[in-house]
Amino acid sequence: MELQEIKGLGPKNIKLLNKLGIFNINDLINYYPYRYNKIETKSLMEHSDFNKIVVKGVVISTPTISYIKRKMNSLRFKVEIDGKLINVVIFNRAFLKPHLTINNQIIILGKYDQKRNTITASDIKLDINLDNQIESIYHCTTGISSKMINNYVNQALKSVEVEDYIPSYLKDNYSFIDKDESLIEIHNPKDESNLKKALIRLKYEELFIFMLKMEKLREQNKEENEYFIRDINEKWKDDFISLIPFELTEDQIKAIDDIILDLNSPKRMNRLIQGDVGSGKTIVAFAACYLMAKANYQSALMVPTEILANQHYNNIKKILPLRVELLTGTITKSKKEEIYNKLINNEIDLIIGTHALLNEQIEFNNLGLVITDEQHRFGVNQRHILRNKGQKPDVLYMSATPIPRTYALTIYKDMDITSIKTLPKGRKEVITYLKKYDEIKDVLSIMYEQLKQNNQIFVVAPLIEESDSSNMESVMDLKEKLQKAFKSYNIDIIHGKMKNKDKENIMNLFKENEINILISTTVIEVGIDIPNATTMVIFDASRFGLSTLHQLRGRVGRGQKEGICILISNSEHERLKVMTKTNDGFEISENDFKLRGHGDLFGVKQHGDMIFKIASLKNDYKILMQTKEDASKFIETKNIYDYKNINEEINKINNQD
Ligand code: ADP
Ligand code: MG
Repeated sequence: MELQEIKGLGPKNIKLLNKLGIFNINDLINYYPYRYNKIETKSLMEHSDFNKIVVKGVVISTPTISYIKRKMNSLRFKVEIDGKLINVVIFNRAFLKPHLTINNQIIILGKYDQKRNTITASDIKLDINLDNQIESIYHCTTGISSKMINNYVNQALKSVEVEDYIPSYLKDNYSFIDKDESLIEIHNPKDESNLKKALIRLKYEELFIFMLKMEKLREQNKEENEYFIRDINEKWKDDFISLIPFELTEDQIKAIDDIILDLNSPKRMNRLIQGDVGSGKTIVAFAACYLMAKANYQSALMVPTEILANQHYNNIKKILPLRVELLTGTITKSKKEEIYNKLINNEIDLIIGTHALLNEQIEFNNLGLVITDEQHRFGVNQRHILRNKGQKPDVLYMSATPIPRTYALTIYKDMDITSIKTLPKGRKEVITYLKKYDEIKDVLSIMYEQLKQNNQIFVVAPLIEESDSSNMESVMDLKEKLQKAFKSYNIDIIHGKMKNKDKENIMNLFKENEINILISTTVIEVGIDIPNATTMVIFDASRFGLSTLHQLRGRVGRGQKEGICILISNSEHERLKVMTKTNDGFEISENDFKLRGHGDLFGVKQHGDMIFKIASLKNDYKILMQTKEDASKFIETKNIYDYKNINEEINKINNQD
């Protein structure tokens, strides 16, 4: 079945569903509600809190509409509730008028003001059968409501056959309900106990598949048992230290020592360097590459964005005498060929690149080390392609995603972890302000102060161009507005749709302080390092997740100057308050766990291997441990049980990365 076969779902709404990440029927039926609403009416006087009432009433006067401002209207009518006459007002629902005919029974949700004998309704339900029913609430977008999504899902569920990934013996063992039944339930819960059964079953399935994947990878790793001792000389570390422009922090030295131990041991290195944004992980990666080059091994450093690849390349060229090349998707074919040749002939010590490094054609002469920066941005598969290149290189991962140790151990199994906790000397906390749109003058004056001191500013907006369907701020629009406000300053833009050459050019100009204000989308989210940029201004900040906000804020306060982050939003979102309270990535990640209720580790949605639609590593730890056990037993005994080809299933899931 295709999306367009669903009744009432035309091309326009399919586009809107795409925006929500729904591209096919499978996406649709797995697009779960993020919360539920249970409507339970009571008689008015039974309510202990008049600010939140849910009552049944009968319409007894024809509604009148008045227009307050442009785009604002109010609808007023009278109802009878428990034998009493009460006024109702609801804003911006003029369209309800024809449905509110006299003697109609309705459900009213809202706030009751006893003195004025008036209910200010937040919602009105025209169907009183909804009483005692559970309503599914989905993440929506302008033009698509929860009701519409629910309707599409239910049509799809009626006509597709869903695949069940839990082997039947496990299903019997836990008395799980059927997959199709659980999907119907999760989208249309009948009562709480049924919903719970469906939830557990779907969570189990998701985690079971995840664990299968992990077990499988671990098995693959076990099969490799010729490891190399790299013979790193301690003296080379001192050479490295004498080459770099600053003094390493204690934790950076500890990380380099850990790496040397790994490289010199017969065991293959598989280490995660974990450290908050700005803690200085890059130099540790460079150290590892330098040491390997000294020992005559090649290294590969993979990063998620072209901008970041360029930055690392330029930085390392400045400080280390290594033969470094840059490999990204956009370099010319002939240059690519040249690099491929140099790699195979051992004329390159370090190759830095994006996904382009995963190209099958690339062969190394003597690859000894693979580093993945911002590792959470890559899928398990992508990381493993590089890992399996050449002669079983040692592997280093870098991440600013703070993963609580217990979870990390479960997920990454045999991975070792080094944490960088101390920040480089002289670092000051970034000060974070929360501002509303009508306080924009304050924002501009803070920006002006910074510009006068020759400090640079990042400005981030959720959109590239203005769009009709939303009133979010856009890069293009801001450029125009800010240029008016700061006439004598250079303002430029950068975003994902620009050509890579242009992006590089802009980043270089910004780095050289030729641009004073750089307006962008979240393309600058990870890794970018411009110490002279002191201020990060984020428009429509409530549009971004905590991890993105934290990463964006991490772009400033990286030098000796104090950093400022201004979050602009009219909604008082809890996330934004968290940002003003702490700069600590761990604390933010903990809060992220709490605020999401369920979801993924620190917001890595769409980027990598932590995509859980329904399970949560934190809240479903018990299920996770159970699936871990079940998955390893399943792999051991897979021949006995009737199950579709497991590799095929795993590949299918991997390809979704
Ligand atoms: P991240 O851990 O987020 O990748 P980076 O490695 O980009 O952080 O480092 C952030 C900034 O701090 C860079 O400008 C880097 O040059 C600088 N830096 C790193 N280590 C030190 C240090 N020991 N002393 C001073 N500055 C440092
Ligand atoms: Mg980094």
